[in-house]
Amino acid sequence: MSTVITPPPQILVPVLGSDAAFPVGRIFCVGRNYAAHAREMGHDPDREPPFFFAKWADAVVPTGSTIPYPAATRDLHHEIELVVAIGAGGTDIAAERALGHVWGYGVGLDMTRRDLQAEAKKLARPWTMAKSFDQSAPLSALRPAAEIGHPSAGAIWLKINGETRQSGDLADQIWPVPEIIAHLSRLVALRPGDLIMTGTPDGVGPVRPGDRLEGHVDGVGDLAVTYR
Ligand code: MN
Repeated sequence: MSTVITPPPQILVPVLGSDAAFPVGRIFCVGRNYAAHAREMGHDPDREPPFFFAKWADAVVPTGSTIPYPAATRDLHHEIELVVAIGAGGTDIAAERALGHVWGYGVGLDMTRRDLQAEAKKLARPWTMAKSFDQSAPLSALRPAAEIGHPSAGAIWLKINGETRQSGDLADQIWPVPEIIAHLSRLVALRPGDLIMTGTPDGVGPVRPGDRLEGHVDGVGDLAVTYR
């Protein structure tokens, strides 16, 4: 059937060392998945099951980009995260089988308009406009689990202008990747092409025009973007 407008473009993420790309469907994000970050945001990490929010697929912006400081905020924050790329869909996926649904991994930034999020929390409104906005998901090239395995420990860090701002370890995730997939697949049917941003360690903070952000996850990769 013909379409009444030009269809939106398929968002593609490069695969490291390959001509092929990973097509992005949806982006799910886990909130407060490292105890020290939950505490810095004023929450008790021991008492909360995982919760999820989302970003539009077209929030993805590739590593190497120069990104305009976003509209409608005076407090843009960085959150460095391990990103899971789903290769096989499913519902009610058991944690023991969850890694079989993972195609690969990347390094992402869950950029956040923290002032809008604080207002949303105060007024019990949705986080959507705080989390899902243009170019709010800088993302490295992806790497297949067939090459790198399934990282469950290792350094995750973010530097601004060469200075370390976030430094954590994947082993400190409250909900590791298999449990994230188990929980999320009870809420929605996961599909090939879905990305999951798995939460950020402590040290989140503001980004200013001119800042260069460099992020890293051991065994997964690196990303770098600059704000103007
Ligand atoms: Mn986050």
